[in-house]
Amino acid sequence: MKPARAVPVLMYHHVSPHPGLVTVSPHTFEQQMARLARGGYTALTAGRFLSFLKGERTVPDKSVLITFDDGFLDNYVHAFPVLQRLGLHAVIFAVTGWIGEGDPRPHAGEAGGAGLPDCPNHKECAQAIAGGRADDVMLRWSEIARMEASGAVEIHSHTHSHLRWDQLYPDRDVRLAKVEEDLRRSRDALRARLGRADIHLCWPWGYFEPEYQLIASELGFTAQYTVAKGLNRPGDDPRHIHRIVVKDRAGSWLPSRLRIYRQPWLGGLYLKLRGQ
Ligand SMILES: [Zn+2]
Repeated sequence: MKPARAVPVLMYHHVSPHPGLVTVSPHTFEQQMARLARGGYTALTAGRFLSFLKGERTVPDKSVLITFDDGFLDNYVHAFPVLQRLGLHAVIFAVTGWIGEGDPRPHAGEAGGAGLPDCPNHKECAQAIAGGRADDVMLRWSEIARMEASGAVEIHSHTHSHLRWDQLYPDRDVRLAKVEEDLRRSRDALRARLGRADIHLCWPWGYFEPEYQLIASELGFTAQYTVAKGLNRPGDDPRHIHRIVVKDRAGSWLPSRLRIYRQPWLGGLYLKLRGQ
């Protein structure tokens, strides 16, 4: 087996029939995942990816980490059944303060279209959260439990409240105290619900300061995910994991991106040409 030199990390938000910001349609998502499965890709667990990044173990050449941000209900309704059917694995970074209680709702793999919850576009989801109706558009703990039990999905932290502390708290000491309090709440919620100490954290809005990284590390978040494009190679900083935004494009678009970000020389050249 040829080992991977670099592992691309894909970033999704919504998989929904309602077009909008950061949204891939269920049809495109299915095609993208089928391409990965047919192309012989290994969709890593977060733990295996981190071991690769730390240089502790090798992974197959065609490896990828699939991630979703925020924890929208549509991830369960439209993405989860596809991942399960194709034997792929993904990570959802959930905002723990937005996760609801109650029974699991139907998903596309079991309801076949009838009785599926409506999964509105990004703007409407943001309005629902702001209006105190997060449960209409975000995951429930019961849905998370079901996805985790299947082995197709694992949940990690996207903080507890998804705030831009820098805009809310100009005073540095206050700001850092707020960051620490929020990360602690998220970590404790995941520990209480899932029974494990989480070590994977995704920064909301792609925003963080060097002090945030230190605070998160001290709370046990060894792996920190950004929205910066780039390569992930053994020995790279696990507190600055690069990701690729996945567009609503089928065909060869995704495989060609993966090729670029799997090969350090090609990825380096590509990023240089794009001025990054
Ligand atoms: Zn987010």
